[in-house]
Amino acid sequence: MEPLFQELAKLYSQMEEAYGKVATLLDFTCDGCPDNCCDSYFTHHTYLEWAYLWEGFRQLPEEKRILCLQRAAEYVKQSEEDLSKEQRPVIMCPLNDDGRCSLYAHRLLICRMHGVPTSFTLPNGEKKSFPGCFRCQDLTAGSEKLPTMDRTKFFREMVGLEHEFLGHKRHILPKVKMTIAEMLVKGEPEL
Ligand code: SF4
Ligand code: SF4
Repeated sequence: MEPLFQELAKLYSQMEEAYGKVATLLDFTCDGCPDNCCDSYFTHHTYLEWAYLWEGFRQLPEEKRILCLQRAAEYVKQSEEDLSKEQRPVIMCPLNDDGRCSLYAHRLLICRMHGVPTSFTLPNGEKKSFPGCFRCQDLTAGSEKLPTMDRTKFFREMVGLEHEFLGHKRHILPKVKMTIAEMLVKGEPEL
């Protein structure tokens, strides 16, 4: 495995731990949720995560890969139509099978943060806060001081890994802003 993939996996597991601590303090789980946030429209921003997603995707059985690629192509078509009408797409992620992620160990950073309240501090010192998903907001309504997962360290480390992964090419490659479906349809990133 590419050594940077191992570093990324380590970072993901630290994030999971931080998420788990906040979830435990809030007594929050996704069990019994009537929603599934895998139909939320998110774009992702690193070549390293894109490549790691493909590292996992290549290990799926061929039948599954074909199915996911078909769904991904439909996702891309539908999301482009929605966006052209200025509607935010609500389409299930092509990797989701009956509510479960087919690439759980390879899922991306954003997939690992949605749920509990989070915050991060921008390089200029400005602090941004996010209240968590609708269910977490219901759970915490009226609470004044909430346990919060600070994303700052994780974002910084992700940027560092991305720079290492791209080397000098980071100055010439176009910026990534892609859904998981687009990452699948486009194939592995070419550096
Ligand atoms: S990669 Fe997995 S966790 Fe992330 S949106 Fe898709 S199915 Fe959900
Ligand atoms: S993160 Fe929130 S909205 Fe998403 S599945 Fe879990 S409880 Fe439901």
